[in-house]
Amino acid sequence: MRGLVTPRPVQRLVDELSRLPGIGPKSASRLTYFMLRAPEEQSRALADALLDLKAGTRLCSSCYNITAAEVDPCFICASAERDAGVLCVVEDPLDVAALERTRVFNGHYHVLHGAISPIDGVGPDDLRIRELIDRVRRGSVREHFQRARHHRPAAEIGERVCRIVQPAGGRGRHCTRGR
Ligand SMILES: [Zn+2]
Repeated sequence: MRGLVTPRPVQRLVDELSRLPGIGPKSASRLTYFMLRAPEEQSRALADALLDLKAGTRLCSSCYNITAAEVDPCFICASAERDAGVLCVVEDPLDVAALERTRVFNGHYHVLHGAISPIDGVGPDDLRIRELIDRVRRGSVREHFQRARHHRPAAEIGERVCRIVQPAGGRGRHCTRGR
């Protein structure tokens, strides 16, 4: 009857936290007991931040990166100082954040929100590839390239995306770890 030892609200938070990437049952328990000891305002602030995360954001209608709900297109797409003719295709918004920190890229992005992975049943239709093709077709993109992750399957995925987008126009190439 181990379940009776842990009160239901405690177990509920442990279960929810365990579903997060990189958080195992041990870390989930540690965080839960930390929150039990923390002042109530801290729990409220955390719950509030979680709710605001969805309500206060949206996808940019041009690049599909995460942007504030009231800012569309996003600051990158709207910037007059950036080159809209060069498109860096990435798998997820974290890639944009990482590249922006390096301050070396001055073009625009296109966020696919995943990678083609036949093993996991993820095909081009599950990603923002149609939107990417439309963007390239509209003619303002001179060059597009995919910045894939370091691991090999991602490199293959990048090549695959390039092959799909290539006929739409522009000069496409695939590369790993930056340009
Ligand atoms: Zn954007």
